[in-house]
Amino acid sequence: MPRFYVPAPIIENDLLKIGGNEARHIRRVLRLKTGDEIIVFDGLGKEYEGVIDEEGSFSVVIKVHNISASGKESPLEVTLAQSLLKGEKMDTLIQKATELGVKEILPFLSSRSVPLLGKSARLKRHRRWERIAIEASKQCGRGVVPKIEPLRDYSEMLQTSSSGSLRLILWEKEGAKLKKVLERSIEKTKIFFIIGPEGGFSQEEVEEAKKTGFTTVSLGKRILRAETASLCFLSILQYDRGDLG
Ligand code: SAM
Repeated sequence: MPRFYVPAPIIENDLLKIGGNEARHIRRVLRLKTGDEIIVFDGLGKEYEGVIDEEGSFSVVIKVHNISASGKESPLEVTLAQSLLKGEKMDTLIQKATELGVKEILPFLSSRSVPLLGKSARLKRHRRWERIAIEASKQCGRGVVPKIEPLRDYSEMLQTSSSGSLRLILWEKEGAKLKKVLERSIEKTKIFFIIGPEGGFSQEEVEEAKKTGFTTVSLGKRILRAETASLCFLSILQYDRGDLG
């Protein structure tokens, strides 16, 4: 059944009105008609099943017959702190991490990251990443859209992590074996992990993370591309103690 994203939907007498891009998509792209069944999700975990009741020029009204919790979220709350990647790599990473059930993505700039221009470029990129997360959630059937945080500096990013989380920084030069780290922290359901830029972390950055409470972790002897490391780590987490497989 096609799915549409409506944040904070308002329902009156079982009727839910959809406007904007989603209405245009229903009418002009998918050419759905009165009587067709659709699902609306609010991005926070609720889904509304219904049939198209009325089609206007700029809106579509749905008669809702079932409201439920999405039920497709992982028991893990995973935050991926990702050093900004070049070009479209960041877009692809956000899409794939959403499919793999990440709760939050926190892009940051470190000493060897590709720099991003001024305020308006950052804002534009942030909006684009949010749209990608929404589209990926729609496509994979998630009811919760991962939160995409605005771009931060490295130290600022470290400070957003909470001491209740399992805090890991992935470093190819040194670190505990992931298997061992996961065995030792079986009770933790909140995980905050950091992946460096293509140029890697500096020694000082790793030291700063350790002082903040992060543990260095290795994914083995081969050096993975940053996006491979993120998706590989997320897949292992979701398989080991999340909802993958
Ligand atoms: N510039 C570094 C080098 O050539 O030595 C490699 C950086 S790597 C392409 C990008 C990021 O992926 C790293 O900062 C790290 O967070 C993660 N990463 C890649 N391979 C890893 C491994 N074997 N263990 C842990 N982290 C890894």
